[in-house]
Amino acid sequence: MLNIKNLHVKLEEEDKQILKGVDLEVPAGKVHAIMGPNGSGKSTLSYVLSGKDGYEVTDGAATLEGNDLLDMEPEERASAGLFLAFQYPVEIPGVGNMTFLRTAVNAQRKARGEEEMSAAEFLKVVRAKAKDLKIDADMLKRPVNMGFSGGEKKRNEILQMAMLEPKMCILDETDSGLDVDAMKLVAEGVNALRSEGRGFLVITHYQRLLDHIKPDVVHIMANGRIVKTGGPELALEVENNGYADILAEVA
Ligand code: ADP
Ligand code: MG
Ligand code: MG
Repeated sequence: MLNIKNLHVKLEEEDKQILKGVDLEVPAGKVHAIMGPNGSGKSTLSYVLSGKDGYEVTDGAATLEGNDLLDMEPEERASAGLFLAFQYPVEIPGVGNMTFLRTAVNAQRKARGEEEMSAAEFLKVVRAKAKDLKIDADMLKRPVNMGFSGGEKKRNEILQMAMLEPKMCILDETDSGLDVDAMKLVAEGVNALRSEGRGFLVITHYQRLLDHIKPDVVHIMANGRIVKTGGPELALEVENNGYADILAEVA
């Protein structure tokens, strides 16, 4: 599904190399987690995959189902099935959440050459999905993210993900200051959307999130590389001993 090979990335503005050869493969149906000390390049990796400006890929490749992600515009990446959880965190005054969701869904359908969803059909689908995710119908009518609590924003993010039906979801939860309830929401959302054809990459430095999500594979990132890969026990090792032992071991 997602295949990253020897990815090297530097900042455009400064001569600073941030990713120094990231190798990572997330197969369909699997949940992979990335943990790692602050500043190791986790967020940079998700930004580069999303196509954010300001980064220059100096070597390596990243593909989604064999298609070159790095060659695509951000919208094309979304149409190809990539979803980044921080993709739409903005507050949009005057635009109803439902309208926004329908526009996003139909833009994606159009880009894929599929027929647009009618208003009636969309309403049916969004209500059903909102109900599954225990999202209040009222939240669908309010302007996008305006005055939403942290938990509501998280729910909304999961709803966007559910509506766009991506193939590969990347969640960067590192810096979002999730409280325990919001963390559980994210975990429940991910678990509800887990499926055979969909991969997840969950970036976090809270082992606790992984108590609820139960990843298939855990990667440790340090200094711009994946330095260790293991099962869920690796997250527990980090929780108990921090990163020092692992970093010393791989040094
Ligand atoms: P993580 O998410 O693992 O904490 P980041 O990807 O946010 O790490 O950052 C990796 C390194 O790159 C850090 O040393 C950070 O200071 C640096 N960095 C990232 N983006 C920028 C930027 N726009 N300007 C300067 N330094 C940056
Ligand atoms: Mg950070
Ligand atoms: Mg980060």
